[in-house]
Amino acid sequence: MDKIIIEARINEYALKSANPNIPYTVDEIVRTAVGVQEAGAAILHFHGRTPDGGADTSVETNAEIIRRVRAETDLLVLPTLGFIANDVAAERRIDTVAALARDPATRPEIAPIDTGSANLEDWDAATRSFGQAERIYQNSTASLIHYARTLREVGVKPKMVSWSVGFTRRALALMEAGLIDAPGYMLFHLTDGRYITGHPPTVAGLEAHLAFLPQDRKIHWTVNCLGGNLLKLVPEIARRGGNFAIGIGDYPYPELGLPDNATLVREAVRLAKAEGRTPATPAEAREILL
Ligand code: ZN
Repeated sequence: MDKIIIEARINEYALKSANPNIPYTVDEIVRTAVGVQEAGAAILHFHGRTPDGGADTSVETNAEIIRRVRAETDLLVLPTLGFIANDVAAERRIDTVAALARDPATRPEIAPIDTGSANLEDWDAATRSFGQAERIYQNSTASLIHYARTLREVGVKPKMVSWSVGFTRRALALMEAGLIDAPGYMLFHLTDGRYITGHPPTVAGLEAHLAFLPQDRKIHWTVNCLGGNLLKLVPEIARRGGNFAIGIGDYPYPELGLPDNATLVREAVRLAKAEGRTPATPAEAREILL
């Protein structure tokens, strides 16, 4: 079977109070990048952070991260658009990535487009109550078209992020409209714990996604799990020819003793190898995806 492409999701907006190994500073991010490449990752997904853990969507910080990661690794870089942290106006979320891409030295290989909007409440099953009940992750179709056009203009590969089947249908429509080129790179964004917007991280949750992924076009699919343990699904993903995106940014992995990113990636690689899948190098991932 094909080599398995591993994306490391090293920090998101997770806090050191959840796992002290979450990288915030440029130094911490670069050290983490070196570690996850050694462990088998090919793609680095990172969020710029302030020293106290806030969101840093500035071009300067992100450019410094990319330059230094490239000086020390071969990883494909995949920054964020800024999620809710960068929402002056949703369509402006692409501006940082577009600015980075104007200089080949800091042009990301890949950038994410979440192909739909979502309620991002905090469901507390113990108390049966909702927190963040007003929070909406807004991605209008007009914004998506703007992101896709901008990424094409600046030569960055879009990663289509699907939280549920409706998102997949919209991603396919963007491809049909000629806004996103094949081969597609699609992330099935499973959710667990207090996040109830995505499919659950179960075989049924994964199968529901795969049932609506057309077989007649080239789409490389990968899977992450926000708020829960992805490892239990890694063997299934590996057997079905998928890839995975894992990191302590999505979930602190208390059951593994709050590991660092490299330790977590190594454990996932062990599970994938047991299914006969070896990790793609960054050069191989580049060949497959770009
Ligand atoms: Zn992210």
